[in-house]
Amino acid sequence: MKVAVSGAAGRMGGRILTLCRAHPEIEISAALEAAGHPYVGRDAGEISGLGTLHVPIADDVYKVLESADVLIDFSSPEASMTNVKAAAETGKAIVVGTTGFSEDQREALTEIGSATRCLIAPNMSMGVNLLFKLVESVSRALGDEYDVEIVEAHHRMKKDSPSGTAGKLAEIVARALNRDLGTAGVYGRQGLVGERKPEEIGIMALRGGDIVGEHTVMFVTNGERIELTHRAHSRDAFAKGAVQAAVWLVSRPNGLYDMQDVLGLKETS
Ligand code: NAD
Repeated sequence: MKVAVSGAAGRMGGRILTLCRAHPEIEISAALEAAGHPYVGRDAGEISGLGTLHVPIADDVYKVLESADVLIDFSSPEASMTNVKAAAETGKAIVVGTTGFSEDQREALTEIGSATRCLIAPNMSMGVNLLFKLVESVSRALGDEYDVEIVEAHHRMKKDSPSGTAGKLAEIVARALNRDLGTAGVYGRQGLVGERKPEEIGIMALRGGDIVGEHTVMFVTNGERIELTHRAHSRDAFAKGAVQAAVWLVSRPNGLYDMQDVLGLKETS
C-alpha cells in the first residue's frame, strides 16, 4: 500500500513517517509540506531521522497523490481543505487528523470528503475513542443532576483552542443530554459571571511545555464527582491510529468515516 504523508516536517508527520516505515504492508510513496517550507526538496527520511528514503518532500498535493493510494494529513485547516478537495478530484483516499476547522470548513469537508474515501477524526487514539463512548454512557446515566466540565491540556505550540477532542467531547455530552452546545458551551470563565447555570457545559483549555494531550470530563454533583481522564504519553498513540485508519480506509467504498468506524465502536454510539 502506497502512503503519502502531509505535514511531513511536523510533529505528527515525523511519527507517521516512522510508523509507516516500520509497517510491513506500507511503502512511503511521497511526502508533502507547505510551499516555501525550508525542508521542501529534502529527503523525508533524513529530516525524520530514518535515513535516506529517496522520497523528496514536495509541495504540490496533486503530484503527491499521483503515486499514492492514501494521503495521511496532519497539517493545518486550510491545507487539509485543499488536500481533501484534491483527493476527491483524483479519487484517492485521505485520512485527516488536523483539528481547528471552523463550522463552515467542517460543513464543506463533509460534502467534499464524501465524494471519495475520507476519514476525519480529531483524535486517532484507541483510548480517546473509547473515552468518547464512556462519556456518552455516563452522561446518559447521570442525566441533568450532574454538572459537566471538560478540561484539556496540551503543549505550548498547539495553535487551536479548545482541542478538537475537547470539542468532540462537548458535542457528545450535549447530544446525550439534549442540549444545544451553541448556548450551553462555556469556554473559560472570567470576571463576575454569576452562578453556574445547570445546562452549562464548561470547556477549559490549559497550555504548557510539552504536554502531548490530556482530557478530563468531570461529572460533579453535591457530595461527589466522577472524573474520566485520558492522557496521551506520546504522539504514537495518535500516529498508530492514523496508520491503522489508512490501511482500513483504502478498501472501503466512497464515504465519510471516523475513527469509531475503524475501531468498531460505532454500533452503540
Ligand atoms: P505541526 O505544526 O508540528 O505540523 C504541521 C505541519 O504541517 C508543519 O510542518 C507545517 O509546515 C505543515 N503544513 C502547513 N501547511 C501545509 C500544506 N499546505 N501542505 C502540507 N503541509 C503543510 O503540528 P502537529 O502537532 O504535527 O499537528 C498537526 C495537526 O494535527 C494539528 O491540527 C493538531 O491539532 C492535529 N493533531 C491531531 C491529532 C489526532 O489524533 N487527530 C493528534 C495530534 C495532533
